[in-house]
Amino acid sequence: MPRLIPTGTCWCGCGTEVGIGSFFARGHDKIAEAALLVTEYGSFVPQLLHKHGYGPGHGTPSLRLP
Ligand SMILES: [Zn+2]
Repeated sequence: MPRLIPTGTCWCGCGTEVGIGSFFARGHDKIAEAALLVTEYGSFVPQLLHKHGYGPGHGTPSLRLP
């Protein structure tokens, strides 16, 4: 993963100024995440899981054991 540097404005695209060291205004990380998923996958979770190597027999990110 590339090293990302906060720019001082919210990365969701809303333009809100955020504090030093923050990428998002409060709660906007979830807004951005949901918007990206809808854009990339149309909210179709099976495609999302499959694309990243999860699905039947492979568990899910949150359920995968160490
Ligand atoms: Zn925002």
